[in-house]
Amino acid sequence: MRDERIPVAVLGATGNVGQRFIQLLATHPWFRVAEVVASERSAGKRYAEAADWRVDAAMPEGAADLRVRGFDAALDSPLVFSGLPGEVAGEVEQRLAKAGHAVMSNASTHRMEPDVPLIIAEVNPGHAAAIADQRRNRGWSGYVVTNGNCSAIHLALTLKPLQDAFGLEAVLAVTMQAVSGAGYPGVPSLDMIDNVVPYIGDEEEKMTEETKKFLGGYSAGGGFQPAALAMSAHCNRVPVRDGHTECVSVRLGRAASPDEVIEVFEAFRGRPQELNLPSAPPQPIVVRREPNRPQPALDRDTARGMASVVGRVRDCELLGTKFVVLGHNTVRGAAGASILNAELFKVEGLLPV
Ligand code: NAP
Repeated sequence: MRDERIPVAVLGATGNVGQRFIQLLATHPWFRVAEVVASERSAGKRYAEAADWRVDAAMPEGAADLRVRGFDAALDSPLVFSGLPGEVAGEVEQRLAKAGHAVMSNASTHRMEPDVPLIIAEVNPGHAAAIADQRRNRGWSGYVVTNGNCSAIHLALTLKPLQDAFGLEAVLAVTMQAVSGAGYPGVPSLDMIDNVVPYIGDEEEKMTEETKKFLGGYSAGGGFQPAALAMSAHCNRVPVRDGHTECVSVRLGRAASPDEVIEVFEAFRGRPQELNLPSAPPQPIVVRREPNRPQPALDRDTARGMASVVGRVRDCELLGTKFVVLGHNTVRGAAGASILNAELFKVEGLLPV
């Protein structure tokens, strides 16, 4: 029987994020992986030989026999998911967008550019309108859409309903980020075992700028306006495999009790839930009542890794309200977020197919 699903390419398919794409797309109802791209080290090999498979599920059969292409290959797939490192993503993604592909990127390279949407499907789907500016400015028939830094995605997802319900004036976030967030092989094991590293290059800047872009506005002609809030981030690498934990304090526009805040978190829904998109979690924010949750080992796979899990919602003597949020960094923090954006774009008629 003919496979009617949209053929997609995965750039950086052998990496941490790339492998997550391959896993999540294996049973996708609308998209099928037709092309895989990685570095010259992998080009020409079967995917099964090129990828040192590290996902906790078997490698999908359909992917194993795909021949890995070099990153300068011309691609046939109209939709391209990118898990390339920032150093190489810029040129490759631009070339593909110019050639008419819809590129959904996880790299930081284009995120803050003034005509590039940085989208969380539940938070700021309206920013997709910026692709018209991008195509006009650059003369491209395709486009680049980005999703955010893995910690910024979970932070912004939880801040959005608070901003809508109460207003949001100030945010302090302290992260404990998993080792898989640094790619593979990532941080040397001797730096990670029995240790916490209180520095992740450029991460605090990314969290701050991206959170303001996610929560800010967009208007045709006026571009993106960052949200007017004060924000400070501390980012730490901890010896956890998957799942970023963030301790967050916020000053809201008006005082709210922990019960009110919990009610707002639990009631939050976005376009993906309205449209019942295949990768949408039923509830984007899941609240745990136990005093010692969320924990990465127990909660990162909530809603197949697509939910942000919140706990410990309580008063904060400094800023008013505080809570803990945990989220899967390679699923909702990367590949899953891109796939959800692509599903939204398909339903909105924005994919070039
Ligand atoms: P990774 O594990 O290091 O994987 C990098 C991938 O890119 C591999 O497929 C690698 O292919 C390929 N690659 C490396 N150098 C290349 C080159 N010169 N030309 C073409 N391909 C090249 O990294 P990752 O953690 O998956 O991260 C990928 C991107 O997603 C980065 O931009 C990162 O910032 C972003 N991101 C990561 C996370 C996360 O939690 N890990 C979350 C959000 C966003 P070979 O195997 O052939 O070397």
